[in-house]
Amino acid sequence: MTVENKVVVITGASSGIGEATAKLLASKGAKVVLGARREGRLQEIVDDIKKDGGKAAYHVTDVTVPEQVKALVQTAKDEFGGLDVIFNNAGIMPTSPISALHTDEWDQMIDINLKGVLNGVAAVMPDFVSQKHGHIITTSSVAGIKSFPGAGVYGATKFAVRNLMEVIRTESAQEGTNIRTSTLYPAAINTELLNTITDKDARNGMDQLYDAVGIAPISIARVVNFAIDQPEEVNVNEFTIYPTKQA
Ligand code: NDP
Repeated sequence: MTVENKVVVITGASSGIGEATAKLLASKGAKVVLGARREGRLQEIVDDIKKDGGKAAYHVTDVTVPEQVKALVQTAKDEFGGLDVIFNNAGIMPTSPISALHTDEWDQMIDINLKGVLNGVAAVMPDFVSQKHGHIITTSSVAGIKSFPGAGVYGATKFAVRNLMEVIRTESAQEGTNIRTSTLYPAAINTELLNTITDKDARNGMDQLYDAVGIAPISIARVVNFAIDQPEEVNVNEFTIYPTKQA
């Protein structure tokens, strides 16, 4: 089975990596179901995909609300008759030094970047187990494998999803449920993500880095396509993606 005809749910699909992935997979014949909070953006992207002959639907989704993530998965089943892949991609990155104590942002990152992924996993697991087939793809970050100043809590959420994905992979192999997991560790990708940074110094530093080396979100979409496109018995489970110019 290749990407063609697979039903793929994508969270964080209203911009950046999620949008690029939805468009690329739809162009390869996948049926994509987009989730995020900004309905206008989702509607526009779905319209663009359909105009180009692709198959797409959306459901307005806040990933911190389990019922909304379940409803997103249900949309895939109602519109396209099943589900093969979930791409847990929604995230925010309000980086700042721990000493600045932006504790409200710590909570938001835990709720969206970690609990949001758990909500995605919980929403698909019953179907993936019973159909003995499924693929869970999650966007971590290079901050999920290396520690960077300013990314204490952001990195904590991204380290956490790395562990989660690897445990799902090994448990599935033991339980014989054939669930594949792929975790992405992107570095600087030019998206709207930096808009979630409120700390001025952190933002300036990131702006300089991204202006100097950032690459387009299609670079990540191609990796997602590659992971899904493997034969069912092959699980390519980790990808680190750096701009060539980033140290
Ligand atoms: P964007 O800001 O362009 O996209 C983030 C997406 O997440 C948007 O679609 C946003 O949609 C969605 N989102 C945010 N909060 C919620 C929520 N509560 N519920 C549902 N959706 C939500 O940035 P990216 O494309 O870069 O980010 C995608 C992922 O990539 C994130 O997990 C990020 O941490 C990760 N990443 C990005 C890197 C980069 O350099 N850009 C590097 C490493 C990892 P909406 O606001 O409409 O809900």
